[in-house]
Amino acid sequence: MIEVEAVSKHFGDFAALDRVSLCIDQGKLVALLGPSGSGKTTLLRILAGLEQPDSGRVRLGGVDATGLGTRDRRVGFVFQHYALFRHMSVAENIAFGLKVRKGPQRPGNAEIEAKVHTLLNLVQLGGLAGRYPSQLSGGQRQRVALARALAVEPRLLLLDEPFGALDAQVRKDLRRWLRRLHDEMGLTGVFVTHDQEEALEVADEVVVMNKGRIEQIGTPSEIYDSPATPFVYRFLGNVNAVPCAVSGGSAQVGGLHIGGGSVDGVGTAFVRPHDVEILELSPDLPQAVIRLVTVMGPLVRAEAVLPDGTVLEAELTRDQKDKLDLRRGQEVSLFLRKAKIFVGTGI
Ligand code: ADP
Ligand code: MG
Repeated sequence: MIEVEAVSKHFGDFAALDRVSLCIDQGKLVALLGPSGSGKTTLLRILAGLEQPDSGRVRLGGVDATGLGTRDRRVGFVFQHYALFRHMSVAENIAFGLKVRKGPQRPGNAEIEAKVHTLLNLVQLGGLAGRYPSQLSGGQRQRVALARALAVEPRLLLLDEPFGALDAQVRKDLRRWLRRLHDEMGLTGVFVTHDQEEALEVADEVVVMNKGRIEQIGTPSEIYDSPATPFVYRFLGNVNAVPCAVSGGSAQVGGLHIGGGSVDGVGTAFVRPHDVEILELSPDLPQAVIRLVTVMGPLVRAEAVLPDGTVLEAELTRDQKDKLDLRRGQEVSLFLRKAKIFVGTGI
């Protein structure tokens, strides 16, 4: 178990981390997700012992590790641009962390060789032991970096945008492969990403960060289906954010009842496009006019304008579109499956 307790870190006057607290269970793969500058790398470096917090604590396996250096924490890292040692072969790179150990800590040469062999197979680079980094593709280099990090049997594996520099397809393949590897080895891992899809697909738990703070921690479906804040709504996928009026427990946008509101006044309603249902015109339901229909592969995106001018984006399947014979200028009715209302506007 990894415990981060009220960790703060300043660079000059700037708060890169502001009282961040977080618990990570043994064996979990956790994503730190947030925009650039939100403090992800700083938190990862503090977990690694590369950076010391101004205040707060880090506990590893119940033991206070706040003052410990990197080597004593038994962590492995992979960075976005992990400079492999260029003058060393793949096998030498992987063996490095073991060869530099001193005294009884250092395994014998035969043991190191066997381990390198096992790791090479694990990262599916069996035949490439003798190659040099310049003779590898980007994806292969990151797998070597991962094997090198795993060689020292870390109790915690830290990855900072490990696939960020690779192209989309390689990136997808590698992240699935990382997930399988993680499951097979039972490691505890923390990886940084600014890519919501990557976090949602790979992680057991997602920590959403913004401006040095944690906005929400949860499983991918908790984060996606029940965002705790407007920031999380916007950061994870498309969302309609429209001003609404709340009175007597009902929130309304342009005559459309969109959900229950607890505080009377003005609010902002957040609705995912796939929760905006387009129906045939019905006298009992609020009406709208379709202003745009865009077909994007299997999905269709439509914009519906309410009588007060509010525009809602809807997402539907090709099939649904065909059934409605949906086109620009059509009058339809709308139903919102799910909306969340936050108090205030301009949020
Ligand atoms: P992220 O990884 O989420 O993009 P970082 O943790 O790298 O964010 O950085 C958070 C903020 O702290 C950024 O605004 C960055 O400029 C600042 N920062 C990070 N490291 C340093 C440093 N060594 N000196 C000064 N500012 C830093
Ligand atoms: Mg970073």
